[in-house]
Amino acid sequence: MAERVAGPEIERLIQLLARLPGLGPRSARRAALHLVRKREELLGPLADAMQVARERIATCPRCGNVDTSEPCTICRDGRRDPSLLVVVETVADLWALERSGAVSGRYHVLGGTLSPLDGVGPRELNLDPLPGRIAEEGVREVVIAVNATVDGQTTAHYITDLLQGTGVKITRLAHGVPVGGELDYLDEGTLAAALRQRTAF
Ligand code: ZN
Repeated sequence: MAERVAGPEIERLIQLLARLPGLGPRSARRAALHLVRKREELLGPLADAMQVARERIATCPRCGNVDTSEPCTICRDGRRDPSLLVVVETVADLWALERSGAVSGRYHVLGGTLSPLDGVGPRELNLDPLPGRIAEEGVREVVIAVNATVDGQTTAHYITDLLQGTGVKITRLAHGVPVGGELDYLDEGTLAAALRQRTAF
């Protein structure tokens, strides 16, 4: 029988850490040991940061991002271009696009994609406020930046229909060769899309 090496408090810490994405029981044990060893420099500040996050993090009522202020930092940033709105599936996608530094406008987080088989219809997503935002904020271009999956494309078509008549320009992300990618390794669908969406050199 495996013997426990630590008391119930540390075992609980390990169990909670093991629930984090990318951490299994072994790496959770290693992380817990590291935290316990670095009590002053790491465990304390981490506990404080988590406490603040627990008390103050909320969903932005305007765009659906999560932040410690309402509206969120991006919505309140006056240097953002109000005429450009980027529609994403999740907050993780928003953060990924922000890391690219290529978005000058603001975002709209749907909270997922339409998926009739899983019972996700328009009501389950943050879709209703979209036409209103476009009118109120003077949006001139909506970039549909959803995943290149079947559900993602279904959602993109739904949004295009929803925004018919608003006069807004609707664009979507290009499909194609990733930066640093080698043609030989790409699937046929990606290669065909890259060729169709070729640009002038
Ligand atoms: Zn926001």
